[in-house]
Parts: sequence; C-alpha cells; structure tokens
Amino acid sequence: MAACIFCKIIRGEIPSMKIFESEKTLAFLDISPLSKGHSLIIPKFHGAKLHDIPDEHLHEVLSVTKKIALAQGIQDYNVLQNNGKIAHQVVDHVHFHLIPKPNEQEGLGIGWPTK
Ligand code: 5GP
Repeated sequence: MAACIFCKIIRGEIPSMKIFESEKTLAFLDISPLSKGHSLIIPKFHGAKLHDIPDEHLHEVLSVTKKIALAQGIQDYNVLQNNGKIAHQVVDHVHFHLIPKPNEQEGLGIGWPTK
C-alpha cells in the first residue's frame, strides 16, 4: 500500500534496523523502544487488522517472533498486537511487538545498571 509506513519500510523507502527478512515476513527494531531490543515483526502482506491477514502469513510471523526471542536469549518478554485505534493501534499494518523485559539483577535493558 503506497502510503503505509511499514510498507515503505518493506520496500526500503524508509530506513530500518532489520533483524530478519524472508519472502513473507520482516522484523526490525522499533524506532521508539519500550525496552532494549524491542522489535516489530510484520507480514509483508498489507492488512490493517489481524483478521485481514491470511493464516500462512500469520503462522510465519509468530514463528519468527519465537525465533527472535530465542536468538536474543531473553526469558521474559511481552508479545503484543494492537487492533484498532481504541486498542492503541497507531500504524495500520499488522505488527507484533516483541518487548524484552530486562533482567533486573544483571541491570540489562532500560534503567540504571545495578552493579
Ligand atoms: P502500535 O501502537 O500501532 O501497536 O505500534 C506502532 C509502533 O511502530 C510503535 O511502537 C512505534 O514506535 C513504531 N514505529 C512507528 N513508526 C516507525 C518507523 O518509521 N520505524 C520504526 N522502526 N518503528 C516505527
């Protein structure tokens, strides 16, 4: 879709810090991270809401989300997917947030180091 920010990222018209790319899926770092390593995993198929996306694309997006969490070595994290303005969706191209929860003991992620 011509005006969609995430479609522009897919086409390389807007720069992004890419983590993973395949024929169907793209993952990149969120421009305004809620924690260190906050990433967005999106289907290349354009659709605003979850129910607009064919299952085969959703399956891969979720599988890639799991693999990124494994590759990051994180144990605690949120996977979040907003649908519609009232549900806090800002970008109308389906995306899954992968938000690592910092390990407080090791002082990782946002906030001050503990040692
Ligand atoms: P939503 O509220 O729609 O679930 O989240 C949209 C997310 O997209 C936000 O976390 C926001 O920081 C991120 N975002 C918006 N525009 C850009 C952009 O141009 N590049 C990147 N990397 N992330 C973006």
